[in-house]
Amino acid sequence: MSACFICNKHAGDLPASNLKIYEDEYVYAGHIDRDGQPNYLGHIMIDLKRHAASLADMTMEEARSFGMMMTKLSKALKDSEQAEHIYAYVMGDAVPHLHMHLVPRYPGTPKEHWGPNAVYDWNAAPMGEENEVYNLCARIKQHLENYNE
Ligand SMILES: [Zn+2]
Repeated sequence: MSACFICNKHAGDLPASNLKIYEDEYVYAGHIDRDGQPNYLGHIMIDLKRHAASLADMTMEEARSFGMMMTKLSKALKDSEQAEHIYAYVMGDAVPHLHMHLVPRYPGTPKEHWGPNAVYDWNAAPMGEENEVYNLCARIKQHLENYNE
């Protein structure tokens, strides 16, 4: 076992593989998992598979795959889930292994709840149970096939 949470996640069988949306040799994309707690619908993470800390550490091959996924997932969140905007951020303070958060903002979100964290605090935020999250992942997967490279 490595000391890295993300390396470990990709080393074994993922317990919640229904949350997986995409994987190739460079990147993995899936919906976040809050251990059975309702999830903000559409909060997706793109992980670099290799252990590297930041956007600056990717090879160009990795960057091509990572960037493509960033755009395809954002398109899918708009086309399939009617998101009006996609927030994207890389933190990495807690886990020094590159992963990017994509957080959709849905129509009707009050201005005071705009922002990738603030959307969570809106009392009408679209929180979903496991089943809804799985269905969302399936829809996103379908949409990914619509976008040509
Ligand atoms: Zn790692």
